[in-house]
Amino acid sequence: MKKLSIFGLVMILSLLLAACGGDKEDAKNKVYKVGVDTTYPPFEYEENGKQKGIDIDLITEIAKKEGFKIKLEPMNFKGIIPALQADELDIAIAGMSITDERKKVVDFSDPYFKAGLTLVVAKNNNNITSQDDVKGKTIAVKKGTTGAQFAEELAKKKNAKVVQFNDSPSMFQEVSNGNADVLIEDYPVVAYAIAQKDLGLKIVGDRLNGDNYGIAVLKGENEDVLKKINKGLADLKKSGKYDEIVKKYLKE
Ligand code: GLN
Repeated sequence: MKKLSIFGLVMILSLLLAACGGDKEDAKNKVYKVGVDTTYPPFEYEENGKQKGIDIDLITEIAKKEGFKIKLEPMNFKGIIPALQADELDIAIAGMSITDERKKVVDFSDPYFKAGLTLVVAKNNNNITSQDDVKGKTIAVKKGTTGAQFAEELAKKKNAKVVQFNDSPSMFQEVSNGNADVLIEDYPVVAYAIAQKDLGLKIVGDRLNGDNYGIAVLKGENEDVLKKINKGLADLKKSGKYDEIVKKYLKE
């Protein structure tokens, strides 16, 4: 009887140990699905079938340093938070601005890039130089963005119209071809696009706000990986690797 219970105890202990080991193995082999925007240079874009950009390099380096595996999942920006909520993504890095509203459903890393919104018009448009001039105009925005939200509020005040697009290039085109009068986009993204190629667009006025980018995980679900992300980010900043990555894409 005594022998049996010792035997039983040993069995239970070894089962427990095996279970713990299994969990650790699972965590080690887990591949974290990372949502990224489809076309958002210099933060993320595809070149020769490969994802590139500041966000891509940052999350790749963080994962390497902190020892977790990732798989990139490009998707329309507006689908990213719903995909986190539906458990289809574990992490999102998509030039995503930290906002109080998003904080209700996701946890953000420490801020990693200062962006801010700006107005953009066609090169030959001299009627719009600030947000006061959008009365009765058409504002192009990208769905689900802080730019879209800013535009909706401004449109209400100024009696303007808002038209929505799935991606940034479509929104740029709408203004360069004259279908919309003005667009709202993150300053570094549109400044980069204009510097790369003559899009027939120009930036006007001061930055509309001080949006900061953060890496997101589903609220309350991913504390462990969020800690690793913050640690990795801090290490990259300390070692100079962060600056190196940013300089690689923004040569100023
Ligand atoms: N920074 C903006 C936002 O968070 C736009 C992001 C994007 O278009 N990828 O809404």
